[in-house]
Amino acid sequence: MTSKKSSPKKTLTPMLRQYLEVKAKHSDKILLFRMGDFYEIFFDDAAIAAKTLKITLTSRNKKNDDAVPMCGFPHHAATGYITSLVAAGHKVVVCDQVEDPKQAKGLVRREVTKIITPGVNLESENLTPDDDNFLAAVTCRQQKQTLFGLSLLDVSTGKFKVTELSDLESLLDELGRSRPTEILLSIPTDHRAEPWQEEIKDEFTRVHFTLRPGTDILTPEENRELLCRHFGTITLAGFGGDNLTAGLDAAGIALAYVQETQKQSNLHHIQSLEVYRNTSFMQIDRNVITNLELLCTIQERSKTGSLFGVLDCCQTSMGSRQLKEWLLFPLLDKDLIEQRLDAVEILLEEKRCRRELMSHLGKLYDLDRLAGRLASGRANGRDLLSLRDSLKLIPQIKELLAGLPLQPALINRALTGLHELKELSDTISETLLEEQPLSITEGRMIREGIDNQLDELRSISKNGKQWLIEYELKEKEKTGINALKVRFNRVFGYYIEVTRRHSEQVPAEYIRRQTLTNADRFITDELKAYEEKILGAEEKINLIEHRLFLALMERACRQLKEIRESAVRLTLFDVLCALAEVADRHRYCRPEIVSDRQLLEIEEGRHPVIEILSENFVPNTTTLDREKEQLWIITGPNMSGKSTFMRQNGLFALMAQMGSFVPAEKAKISIFDHIFTRVGASDNLGRGLSTFMVEMTETARILHQAGPESLIILDEIGRGTSTFDGLSLAWAIAEEIHENCGSLTLFATHYHELTELELIKERIANYNVAVQQRDDGITFLRRIIKGGTNHSYGIEVAKLAGIPDAVLTRAREILGNLEAAEISGGENLRMTGRSILSSRTNGLKSGYLPLLEPSPPTTEKRCDDKSAALKQLIKKQDLNRTTPIKALNILEKLQKMIRD
Ligand code: ADP
Ligand code: MG
Repeated sequence: MTSKKSSPKKTLTPMLRQYLEVKAKHSDKILLFRMGDFYEIFFDDAAIAAKTLKITLTSRNKKNDDAVPMCGFPHHAATGYITSLVAAGHKVVVCDQVEDPKQAKGLVRREVTKIITPGVNLESENLTPDDDNFLAAVTCRQQKQTLFGLSLLDVSTGKFKVTELSDLESLLDELGRSRPTEILLSIPTDHRAEPWQEEIKDEFTRVHFTLRPGTDILTPEENRELLCRHFGTITLAGFGGDNLTAGLDAAGIALAYVQETQKQSNLHHIQSLEVYRNTSFMQIDRNVITNLELLCTIQERSKTGSLFGVLDCCQTSMGSRQLKEWLLFPLLDKDLIEQRLDAVEILLEEKRCRRELMSHLGKLYDLDRLAGRLASGRANGRDLLSLRDSLKLIPQIKELLAGLPLQPALINRALTGLHELKELSDTISETLLEEQPLSITEGRMIREGIDNQLDELRSISKNGKQWLIEYELKEKEKTGINALKVRFNRVFGYYIEVTRRHSEQVPAEYIRRQTLTNADRFITDELKAYEEKILGAEEKINLIEHRLFLALMERACRQLKEIRESAVRLTLFDVLCALAEVADRHRYCRPEIVSDRQLLEIEEGRHPVIEILSENFVPNTTTLDREKEQLWIITGPNMSGKSTFMRQNGLFALMAQMGSFVPAEKAKISIFDHIFTRVGASDNLGRGLSTFMVEMTETARILHQAGPESLIILDEIGRGTSTFDGLSLAWAIAEEIHENCGSLTLFATHYHELTELELIKERIANYNVAVQQRDDGITFLRRIIKGGTNHSYGIEVAKLAGIPDAVLTRAREILGNLEAAEISGGENLRMTGRSILSSRTNGLKSGYLPLLEPSPPTTEKRCDDKSAALKQLIKKQDLNRTTPIKALNILEKLQKMIRD
């Protein structure tokens, strides 16, 4: 607190004292204090707000010592300012006048009417159309084992999900794919965050955190009650939420927080709790979302250039949000996947129907968010007209879909719950004018013929002038006073003015109100009665219109459930059409989903994003197979296309399981339970970890978690350390995956030595990216071909990159020398320029990594005398040159020979 704030309260006006009382309860938020037509902000808040909003900072009692810093803005512009404050990461609390200042005795009563935080936000200006705006609550229970609860609530749409997770990594992944804008953490009473809470905060540095003191947290029973009360049920069994513990805690915290912040708003649109298990979907860690550029590119963080960017041909924001969810929650159930694929296929084939559907869908409004505004009473006339317009599209959409030559189960089922709500949309049409104002309190909304009193008032207000003219004429005639005038002023309202000359002619029923030097002013009962009508009319019109509008809104709210049901179905159609459209546009094929064997067989596959960006994309074939080629070692020069190839395969699996076609000629894909990636050197500087540490942490996790049904993509592992370390680790990691994890794996490496693994491991296969060497350099062919490579083309790639000729010539010279030196060393070893150079940089004089004999195992198998072969193999080893890795490999080879 500043010295100003702590100045003695008695010097403060009652108003400021009222302000400070409210502020004390909301010290973590910026308080907007309604004063007349303005929202004022005081003290420290004022400084923050003035800076954020770029408005002038002034002060109250400027001349006094205890001047109070202050800024403000007109109430009608509030939304924009609140948006900016929230966007800048502040929470905002709005304190309004809750009684008419004219009627207030003393200080006007004020109350907090809403609280806006990044995660609890219904103002559409603040929301990204194609993103859910989740408020997350995370809890932890220590029972026999640790159990985390995670709930996700989007107040703008009413979506409410909850799950439980048994380990922190899964929790972080789940938060990663749900991308909440605000996370609630309940802090224990001693106000120190738990270690797992610190981890969450470290991981999600861009997210807004709200700490709830432990004392605010409800007991499990209270939680259950709170949720049941909200949903109007006696148990949560209907949602499958009866066995939840930590999950229930989380759901309760989220709902309680939303109720608290939304104040009088109704939360009817939060109609169900979706209980899910993260293991019901393919698990995608947060690395995968980034590495495979699912939602945005790594470099620019833009949607363009991401998978979502390619797939999102949705016509509505609802569709875009849903598509994103499909993308981040790929299915594991073959039947469900096939159902989506069936629907996409028929829509792909029926192009005309699809295009027509899409054009109808394009006219739909965001019904999910509209439902949120309706329920919370924030909808206006335009929203209701939009609702009507959307509902009116339903019959045509139904007809188109019903007319499909084949009825896929998914579409068929959806059609039954698609409500046209004709009565509601007719009522809206009959009640509302076609032009609607933004405000719902200033009239001009309701049609004529809806309410007698309203019509009468309107005609009064419209005919008021005419009536006065006629009244004046009538009175002139009656009294015979030609100079009689009907006039208006603020003090008396309407009056009759008669010049003094005609005083005698004034009838008895005229009541004198004022005497001027040469005229008198009168009123009559008739005039006053009419005046009341006219003057009150405008105000009454507005009140009646407001009342009628609220009634209409309530009428719509009664069908919130149906509106949401329809919205879900229309969203589904939108997503299906989008997937069909993309498949059509880019010639995707339907993947064959296999469930009896782990494989990824892709004929002529393309990277969905790069194929659009590059002119001549070269398709490639993948034949990963758990039984035969479980692990591919992929070698090839830098820039040859290794990463692209590996990524595209990850995307195929993901796309297939979300129900999308894939960019290939033919695809046979099994269901993967988890995709792992370890890609590139994405330094996590924010957490102060070195590249190598990050790489190893991620790899450790892969080795612990990956199983036979997982897909692993490892790109250039071991880069962050010395060559020998890196190579040894890469080797051991590949072995571990082969022997223990059993996952289908793509393993790109610059360690050509790893190609030796093929010789000794049954299910490891070598592939490389073809390069054409010419006299003057190399051409990338981008074709993945079988076999290893022993040439890095480092110098050639350097040439392409523009390294000066002199340097290149010198490098070639050094390379030549090094290679010659090695060969004259008499070793019958495969050497690469790279390993010599890197050995040198490691300070080893004649060092190279001793490798296995290049002769393939088949030659040995031909050897009749097994023991002779064994002897020979053992004898020829030069122990001075044998590293532990090599020793192990030799041992393994020996064992294998004995077994065979
Ligand atoms: P590497 O991982 O081997 O260094 P990348 O996968 O990063 O290579 O690819 C390098 C560049 O080559 C990419 O920017 C991409 O545009 C292009 N490229 C990769 N694969 C293909 C392909 N199959 N067809 C055409 N261009 C490709
Ligand atoms: Mg690469």
